[in-house]
Amino acid sequence: MNSTPTAIIVGGGIIGSTIALDLIRAGVQCTIIDKGALLQEASTAAAGMLGAQVEIHQPGAFYELCRLSQLLYRGWADELEQLSGGVSPQYINQGILRIAWNEEDEVELKSRLAWIQDAEWMEAEAMREWEPAIASNVRGGMYFAKDHQVHPVYLAKTLQAALHKQGCDIREWTPVFNLIERSGRVVGVRTSEGELYADQVIVCAGAWSNALTEPLGFRLPMFPSKGQCISVKTTAPIIKKTIFTKGGYIVPKQDGTMLIGATQEEAGFDKRCHVSAVSALHAKAATLLPALEQAELVSTWAGLRPGTRDGLPYLGISSKLPGLIFSTGHYRNGILLAPGTGKLVRQLVLGQQPDMDLTAFAPDRIFATVE
Ligand SMILES: Cc1cc2nc3c(=O)[nH]c(=O)nc-3n(C[C@H](O)[C@H](O)[C@H](O)COP(=O)(O)OP(=O)(O)OC[C@H]3O[C@@H](n4cnc5c(N)ncnc54)[C@H](O)[C@@H]3O)c2cc1C
Repeated sequence: MNSTPTAIIVGGGIIGSTIALDLIRAGVQCTIIDKGALLQEASTAAAGMLGAQVEIHQPGAFYELCRLSQLLYRGWADELEQLSGGVSPQYINQGILRIAWNEEDEVELKSRLAWIQDAEWMEAEAMREWEPAIASNVRGGMYFAKDHQVHPVYLAKTLQAALHKQGCDIREWTPVFNLIERSGRVVGVRTSEGELYADQVIVCAGAWSNALTEPLGFRLPMFPSKGQCISVKTTAPIIKKTIFTKGGYIVPKQDGTMLIGATQEEAGFDKRCHVSAVSALHAKAATLLPALEQAELVSTWAGLRPGTRDGLPYLGISSKLPGLIFSTGHYRNGILLAPGTGKLVRQLVLGQQPDMDLTAFAPDRIFATVE
């Protein structure tokens, strides 16, 4: 009798790929299935900020989840690089400066000091000593020293190389049409290439997840949240740290380009870029860094964040559908949340106590709002 546990992972973005790698290394036999190529959707459209503090506005379970992942990140990135045979995810350990333009911004940012960790208020002068390219009319800002970054495209290459080296069964260009349920338990998936069965099925299908779960009575209130970005270049690098402001950011990358993001739109599954959005992103960035007025445009793109109406991921097991694990809806923070999610899902698959209480992320919370 074959006693090796088996898992099917639907969706090979950063979340599904990270889970697959974690499970394989724990001795679980994994198949990862994607309707396209691995890591080509939201996960390579992202900016790569590991913003466990900069993006979070209140303490609570989500902040704890972000911190859990942040604490794992550096070691995880180094390990991935080793497993990949030396492909670097371009981890940069520079923090993020969040700009305050006026007194209201300053009060809001300083109010977070009551609960946030690894943050300090900086006057404009001190900030401009670090980053002289910042506009002279900023009021000051908060420095989040531990909010580092990776390059999502290189992280994807690293992860993909590691998965191949670990012998993961990867099925690309193979859409999953539906989940197979028998006697109230999810036992497999029906794909364009036939049926596949496993002990556990894990849904990591990003913005497309609801199409898989809704036929089984799980209507996930998820939506694609479109983010358009641009990449620009100046003759010489002008910043070292990520500069973040309300509704936008500028992330300097190792190759000297700066990633400027991002719009947040509900436009269905449309991934086209629009001139109006591109010029608005550039204009906003140039108010922060005036030297960007003359920047060269390198590229534009858009991706679809797996948005959830309450801003929290669906992470866990439903008592109503054994055999199925939800790991989706990581919205604006999936790059950051990858190592923490990988670890927590591995613990669920192996029947271990997860490192943190997952109640806030329980998929069954959707039933609390349905009559
Ligand atoms: C512009 C932008 C900027 C961002 N910046 C950051 C950032 O700085 N930091 C951060 O932490 N996060 C950021 N994010 C968010 C992050 O990118 C997402 O949270 C993360 O990529 C979600 O990963 P995922 O694996 O769940 O989804 P995806 O990467 O979208 O992967 C889902 C996969 O499932 C596959 N799939 C779907 N349906 C099926 C099916 N039926 N059968 C088979 N396969 C299927 C898809 O093809 C896809 O490959 C950003 C996102 C965007 C768009």
